[in-house]
Amino acid sequence: MTFYNLKNTSEQYSFKDAVKIAIGSNQGLLFPKNLPKFSPVEIDELLELDFVERSSKILYEILKDDVSHMDTVKNWVTKAFTFPVPLTKLGENGHVLELFSGPTLAFKDFGARFMAQALLWASQEEKSGKDITILTATSGDTGGAVANAFYGIENIKVVILYPKDMVTPLQQRVFTTLDKNIHSIEIAGNFDDSQSLVKDMFLDEDINKNIILNSANSINIARLLAQTCYYFEAISQLPQDERKNMTFCVPSGNFGNLCAGLIAKNMGLPIKKFIAGTNINDTIPRYLNDNIWQPKKTQATLSNAMDISLPSNWVRIEQGLYDNDLSKLKQDVSSNFATDQEIKDKMLEIYKNHNYIIDPHTANGLAVIGKELTANDKYVVLSTAHPAKFQEKVESILNISIPLPPQLANLGTSEPQKHKMPCNFTQLKQFLLEL
Ligand SMILES: *Cc1c(COP(=O)(O)O)cnc(C)c1O
Repeated sequence: MTFYNLKNTSEQYSFKDAVKIAIGSNQGLLFPKNLPKFSPVEIDELLELDFVERSSKILYEILKDDVSHMDTVKNWVTKAFTFPVPLTKLGENGHVLELFSGPTLAFKDFGARFMAQALLWASQEEKSGKDITILTATSGDTGGAVANAFYGIENIKVVILYPKDMVTPLQQRVFTTLDKNIHSIEIAGNFDDSQSLVKDMFLDEDINKNIILNSANSINIARLLAQTCYYFEAISQLPQDERKNMTFCVPSGNFGNLCAGLIAKNMGLPIKKFIAGTNINDTIPRYLNDNIWQPKKTQATLSNAMDISLPSNWVRIEQGLYDNDLSKLKQDVSSNFATDQEIKDKMLEIYKNHNYIIDPHTANGLAVIGKELTANDKYVVLSTAHPAKFQEKVESILNISIPLPPQLANLGTSEPQKHKMPCNFTQLKQFLLEL
């Protein structure tokens, strides 16, 4: 499989290089050139397999030009996907795909853990003796997942940038309480600012001369490929007669998760439609409505991991998958937003009617479903984080107390460690060079 730069389609990379460089020239994101297509019979066969077996086959099919043995991919998948992915029924027509059982309790664990394996493989022959620095901007959950996936690994340093006042204390604790090779920086700015610092850093000559820089944001294609696997898993857990008629609702921020779902559909997985739910940072719902790209200033909301106005992965969807044909794209994707009040109402409603506790991001998705689907449509909503990760918010909205699962409870009392920085390229560069 070749991966090409969306800003310069003649610039092409092997998977090994794509994982390592993360981003092409001129800040162009990479995208697979020819995705494999499974026939309906092959899809049915895949759906019979267990999660690890099936995911290994799917990913091997994508990567087989670069990774010569199926066992190599299977080894990564076995190490990365070590937790279950339950599909829970919600009412007559709904299902919740619970993607939050990994070590940092959000779906980011799938992509980050798979990417860690792929990157270790890709860097094996690196004889330069230089350490790899993984520079990651997080809107809340990527930081924890990436830090956890790379914690304690020799020759790899991880630097997490997170926006001041826009990441909950618990989300912060997941990465700021790790020592060793993990470094956290609170940036005085929002996620979009941090993400653009990361992208700029890749272009800096001094940096590239002195360190091997990588990014574990969803700008790294390895993460998205891994995420396609749980869409297959969701369908496999449905009864046969419901498998071809599902709408997937994806609570979206940087639009990596939606992109992964669309890649799965492109490979032949029968998915009827996608709904991209956003909060009031609604660049995409407005864009699909009037075809005008008009991001506004990012606002802080209850679903903070989705507080993004410049979704990086949109170009992969619009250009990479739909060849800039917006009307075709709109046949597969619709998008709408929910306010904080709607999110709270939805959390309360689901708790009262189903005795089921959801986090604000999942609630955001469910609130949008109410605006886009009729009562008879069958759907799967992606539950992107465990409610306990947003313990304070969830407890105050539902007026209950919820225990912390072991992953969070065990963060214990260790002191958070962080640096603080203005959103300043030169200062960050200095920090990286001295690390
Ligand atoms: C990252 C994140 C999202 C948004 O996912 P994207 O792939 O960036 O669209 C939604 N919910 C939670 C809990 C997240 O951590």
